[in-house]
Formats: sequence, structure tokens, C-alpha cells
Amino acid sequence: MSLTKKILYALLLGAVVGIILNLTAPEFFTHINKWLFVPLGQIFLNLIKMLVVPIVFFSITLGVAGLGDPKKLGRIGAKTIVYFLLTTTIAIIIGISLAFIVQPGSGGGFDTEGVKYEGTTEAPPVVETLLNIIPTNPVAAMTEGNMLQIIAFSVFIGFALTILGNKTKGILNLFEQANDIMMYLVNLVMKVAPYGTFGLIATAIGSQGYDAIKAMAAYFLVVVAALFIHAAVTYGGTVALVKRSPIEFFKGFFPAMTVAFSTSSSNATLPVSMETAQKNLKVPEPISSFVQPLGATINMDGTAIMQGVATIFIAQAWGVDLSITQILMVILTAVLASVGTAGVPGVGLIMLAMVLDSVGLPVAGIGLIIGIDRLLDMTRTAVNITGDAACAVYVAETEKKHMDVTKTA
Ligand code: ASP
Repeated sequence: MSLTKKILYALLLGAVVGIILNLTAPEFFTHINKWLFVPLGQIFLNLIKMLVVPIVFFSITLGVAGLGDPKKLGRIGAKTIVYFLLTTTIAIIIGISLAFIVQPGSGGGFDTEGVKYEGTTEAPPVVETLLNIIPTNPVAAMTEGNMLQIIAFSVFIGFALTILGNKTKGILNLFEQANDIMMYLVNLVMKVAPYGTFGLIATAIGSQGYDAIKAMAAYFLVVVAALFIHAAVTYGGTVALVKRSPIEFFKGFFPAMTVAFSTSSSNATLPVSMETAQKNLKVPEPISSFVQPLGATINMDGTAIMQGVATIFIAQAWGVDLSITQILMVILTAVLASVGTAGVPGVGLIMLAMVLDSVGLPVAGIGLIIGIDRLLDMTRTAVNITGDAACAVYVAETEKKHMDVTKTA
């Protein structure tokens, strides 16, 4: 059986076991969750997280060095960032439009008085994060796992390797070998993916309060529908635009989507999503190495969709009519919020505070949706990384005329 099939079965089995135990034997679930599901998931999660920082460093450095020409880097960088911003804007517009059509918050019956949100009401300042992109201490950036800073440092090193050419051949070889080791380890770790996925999904699905889902069904369905539409239309359209088959794209990238779904973390999934894009989607290594780590850090279409729908939902629940200017403000801040959202579980919800704040909606509204956010986080993370892969395919295909792209993994 192929690995993809194994992961898919593990996912389904985990979900079924989680739901059944949750509904029929909650106490037994607590035990087996603690002693089996959580450890299985945690071991897998730690194994892939272990590879993230070295992979980002080596692969971006090599990716930039592999592009060979600083002009190419500039062109690919600009294309990537424009693509990210454009698709994130489309994502929010789809989310907001659907929320306006379906009106998930207008049914009434939401506890707008009593609802509380204990978490932080202040989102981390996006501008500051972007200004801090150049690390004053690259080693600290790596130990902290600060993705944007690691990316910036790697771009500098890759650039220097290109310029210094033969003089630094030794280091380049060393990095290439280090990268091979990392990719080998990704393959190895993926062998335990079915067990890890099973554990993660059983925990996530088994620990849900299903009453919350019933109460929030309309909101839940609007987010999922918007995610689905965005993936099918925007990403399907992107790959079709460069004459690749959307079906093969989704099929090929599916293993990475399942890992994103079970981990709820774009960062943790990065080693797998890069490997999958290079192997199954034939994205050349230098492009995948540049586009995907950057995307896992700043391109969060799924998160933007949730933030758009959530804002409109909260406005409806509180009976607030948003003006056109306010809606434009929501679009703008949701783009910024999704750029600033770290690729780890649950941060999208924290950044929602920034969007709500920008149009004067109550941040306590987050309390209404927090109960079902875990499930939505899984789904939107799968969309987040698919957006990065669609961009990688797009850049790869449009760069074909400029470069030799025979070098795939
Ligand atoms: N979990 C998401 C990701 O890693 C971010 C979020 O929306 O919370 O892509």
C-alpha cells in the first residue's frame, strides 16, 4: 500500500475512533488518549519539527545559490510575494462574501452578553515582526525558530555563495550534503506518519465538544465551504493557468495536506510539503526551497478566510452593520493578520483580535468561536500549505523560459 493511502486510512480510522470514544466512552478515551494517542502524535510531531530549522536554513541557502543570478532571485521573490498577497485577498473576499450570503450570525441565540475570551486581546504587532526580519543574532533566530529571520539569513548566505562562486565551493558541497541528509530524514520520518496521524487525529477529534459544533454549525460550514471554494477555484485555477492538471496537483500534494490537517501547523508540515512538491509536483528544488518556507510563514489563505468569516459572523451576532469602508478595512487587516500569523496551531485566532479591533467589533466575540476552532484550524492549515504549493508550481512553470529547471529532487 502506498504511503498516501496508509496516511489516509490512518486519518479516517483516527477520526472514527475519536468520535466513537468521545460519544460512547469518554472516560476510557481520556486514558487511552493519554497513554496512546497523545504519545503517538507527539513523537511524530517532534520528529518532523526537529527537521524544520535545518531544512529551512540549508534549503533556502541552496535554493538562492542554485538560482545563480541575483536578478532571478529578485524576479522570483517579487512574483512570489505578489502571488501571496493577491491570493490572500481573494481568499478573504470569498470568505466575506459567503458570510454575507449565508448570514451565519444572524439567526440569533448567541450569548453576546455572557461570552468571555480569556486569551490575549492584543495581537502581536505585524509591522514590528516585518521590521525585525533581519536577525541581529542568527543563532538566536535559529534557536527561537524565528522563521522570517532564518529565511532572511539564509538568503544572505545563499547570495554570498553565489557571488563568491568557486572560493566557497567547499561550503556549498557541505550544505548540499547536509540537505541530502535532511531530506533522507524526512523520508524516514514519513514512515511513521500513519501512526502519528492516527494519534493526532484521534486526540483532536476525540477531545471535541460536539455541542459547540451544533450551536456553531452555520459558521463552521461557511468557513469550510469558503476554504473548499478557494482551494478548488483559486489553486485549481492557478495550476490550470500554467497548463498543469488541477486533479494531479491535488492528488500529488495530498500527503502533505493530510499532515497539515493532523498537525495544524504549516511550519511543522514544511519538510513534508517541500518534499511532496519536489517529488510529486516536480517543482525544482531551488524554487520549492524558496517559495514554500516563505509561504509557510507569511501566506495563510485559509487563516484569512476564517478571519473574514469570523469578523462578519461576530458583526452579525452583535447586530452591527459594517459599512463598505469598514469591510475594506477588514480585508486589509486580515491580509496583514494572516501575514503575521505564525504557522503554528491556533495563532490565526489570536490574530483575529487585530481584525476585530480595526473595525471596533468586540474582541470577546472570539469566545464564541473558540470552541470549534481546533477543527477549523486543521482544515485551514491544509489550505494554507496548498496555497504555497500552488504558488511554487506557478513560479516553476513561469520560470521555465528563464532557467534550466531540470533539477528536481
Ligand atoms: N495553524 C495555522 C497554520 O499553521 C495558522 C492558524 O491559522 O492558526 O497554518
